[in-house]
Amino acid sequence: MNTSSSATTTKLEQDQLLLRINGTLPDIGTLGNEEKSERAAEVKRHGINTNTSCSLFAKVGETNQIFHLLVDVGQGILKSVEKSISDLRIDTSSLSSILPEAVLITHSHEDHISELPLLADRTTNKSRNLKVYCTSECRDQIITKFPKINSNNQVSFNIVQPDQTFQLGPFSIIPILADHGENSPAGSVIYVVKLANHKVIIGWDFLSLPNVDENLLWNPDLAILGTQSYNPHPQTGMISVSEAFELVRRWNAKESYIVHYRGLSDFEEATNQWFRGPVKAMTTNELQKIIDSHLQIIGSEGKFKMTVAQEGMVWDSNKSLAQSIQGKEKEQLQEDSSGQNAPQFVEIESLQNYIFRIEKERNDDKLKLMIEDRINRFNLEFDKPRIVENAVDNKDVLIAQGVKGMLAKGPDLRIEIIPRPEGSEYYIKIRALKGKKNVFNDDILINNRDTQRLKRYIKENFMPSVSAANK
Ligand SMILES: [Zn+2]
Repeated sequence: MNTSSSATTTKLEQDQLLLRINGTLPDIGTLGNEEKSERAAEVKRHGINTNTSCSLFAKVGETNQIFHLLVDVGQGILKSVEKSISDLRIDTSSLSSILPEAVLITHSHEDHISELPLLADRTTNKSRNLKVYCTSECRDQIITKFPKINSNNQVSFNIVQPDQTFQLGPFSIIPILADHGENSPAGSVIYVVKLANHKVIIGWDFLSLPNVDENLLWNPDLAILGTQSYNPHPQTGMISVSEAFELVRRWNAKESYIVHYRGLSDFEEATNQWFRGPVKAMTTNELQKIIDSHLQIIGSEGKFKMTVAQEGMVWDSNKSLAQSIQGKEKEQLQEDSSGQNAPQFVEIESLQNYIFRIEKERNDDKLKLMIEDRINRFNLEFDKPRIVENAVDNKDVLIAQGVKGMLAKGPDLRIEIIPRPEGSEYYIKIRALKGKKNVFNDDILINNRDTQRLKRYIKENFMPSVSAANK
């Protein structure tokens, strides 16, 4: 048997992201006593003492160096981080240090920064200072709380601003302003971290995101959501699990982790005899069961996967749900080209706002179009779908006529596939017009791969138009 250590170390690939949950607890003093709260009893029984935090690992460019980015550093995090390197079997020679390269801070509550001085001490021992990224308000709050780390020059603060992207190692990061309720420290943010095509929302400790451009949150590979309770309790300053269900649908977040759960506020619902939801602080397994059955009831089982996170859990972009869906599409494409199992419809998740689906009615000269955004779903049907041949400007054009009803005719349809001048993306211009009135009219941005699927589906399912008038 080969027992050399190189055989067991994790080698990261280009653009692969490993994300480790370092802890999931809110301020431990607020969990309640274990006689009342089964969650508090579970935490005590397992000796868990780590606040909410995660580590991200990715390769720096073409080198073998691995960049370790830490997000928040409350109680127990230093120990947990040390463990992460050995848990993940990361070759320490690829790391500049066992300590993180940089720390992102979401806000200055104790449970997110309490071990910052300890981390600064350890980093200074390695003869460098600790790079901390946070808003200017958060920096001032940290310095007020820990004046020593500033006066000793142990920390170099890098100021970030909501909605302004910055680069950090291999990552591209956008802070988003967060309203964290009544005790919200000024300058609280959540972060969206991107690495190549991967997008992760690190979204704990917020009640709402004022004025956010929701395109930034659309279609993440992973969303980490902080929830203090199951039922909505805005006084916690955080969203609830039930609100998390809405957000994953709204953002099309196929995979999500729930952190920061406490559940104490849900006892309030127990006084309402008509209330049918959870009315206690649940254990991890109980919460997971309730979440799974809810996803099943709303018919989102399989489409959305929500996991109650625990310390030590690792999310690997190479094994993510998004990755496996892409893999299935590839297989399907290969099957199609061998002439079998031609798909009944093509469904596309755009780069912003929309999911849409085009379907040819099997035995009818009809086209069905479904367009779904965060709020609405349009289901439209059209007659005589035709490809417009020789369309100008490199466009692919599909048209269809309104369905004739008893009293009036439905809207006409025109779909244009237009390459963007910049290259790798396409606009799908979809217009459903009834007389002079738009039933639907928008440009939908999609990637190159999906464009090829769409073009192919159209080519294989619809006839060319013979009428020159439609050119
Ligand atoms: Zn907080």
